[in-house]
Amino acid sequence: LNTFPLSLLNASLTPLPLYDFAPESLRGAKVLVTGSSKGIGEQMAYHYARFGAKIVITARSKDTLQKVVEKCLSLGAQEAFYIAADMSNESDLDRVVDFALKKLGGLDYLVLNHIGSTRIAMWDGDVEHAKWLMKINFFSYIQMAWKALPSLEKNKGSLVIVSSLAGKMPSPLTAPYVSTKSALNGFFGSLRHELAMKKSNVSISVCTLGLIDTETAMSKVKGKVNMPAYPATEAALNIIITGATRQPELFYPWFTYIWTLTKDWIPSFTDYVVQRSYNYSP
Ligand code: NDP
Repeated sequence: LNTFPLSLLNASLTPLPLYDFAPESLRGAKVLVTGSSKGIGEQMAYHYARFGAKIVITARSKDTLQKVVEKCLSLGAQEAFYIAADMSNESDLDRVVDFALKKLGGLDYLVLNHIGSTRIAMWDGDVEHAKWLMKINFFSYIQMAWKALPSLEKNKGSLVIVSSLAGKMPSPLTAPYVSTKSALNGFFGSLRHELAMKKSNVSISVCTLGLIDTETAMSKVKGKVNMPAYPATEAALNIIITGATRQPELFYPWFTYIWTLTKDWIPSFTDYVVQRSYNYSP
């Protein structure tokens, strides 16, 4: 009950501090954002920078990360560092969290956002790809969250998980991706209960996004999907506000929430609309 109205407000297309968001709470906040060399993660890094946070960003491409860090500093980040890492490599996961803990002296926010590349195509039985994607999009999230938890506990911090409507409602042509997002929703939903039962002071925000106009997403859906895309910079700001106000869920844009209802209320209609949103002829 608590989540629903706030999530709707939060998911307006022009995010406004409609309730409890105090921008100054992010001044000096210690933040690690993954997948932040481009797309939504890059936009989150810039918003955190404008709020005066201390940031560590990570992705694989060192050159791009360096440019993002420079821009973060010019936008007002109190501190900004980068570390190149591959989330499919288990030893990189602890290395990234340790780097952030050391550089920032702890963590207030861990924002898990990275994804491995996957095709928009009919499932072709490539189990190895599904396992690889699960490693990047799911197992790395739970390992990094566990590693950061003691510091987040100490700082009354927040875990922010960037998920997708695909995690709430299966879409076609992306079966491995859908699986990883459903796994995230399940795992972090369960962990949220456990933290509450332990009276932990760490909040978990799971963010459900619709189609967002990042370069990667737009190049992948071109000619294949008929859906409007929404701005990455607004999606990024909504995610940050959701984490800062310790909301359990975000739906951006707001009507993604409606889809999660219609799939149970009127499943055959929802299936029809979903399948019609993809250009495919056998
Ligand atoms: P992008 O493809 O734009 O960015 C992905 C980021 O992850 C990049 O910084 C990339 O950098 C990094 N990355 C990719 N592979 C690895 C790897 N193996 N190890 C470490 N980092 C890696 O993604 P979006 O911004 O579009 O998506 C961000 C989040 O939003 C994802 O969780 C996605 O599921 C979610 N989302 C996006 C939607 C959309 O329509 N865009 C819709 C719904 C949810 P590099 O290549 O340098 O490593």
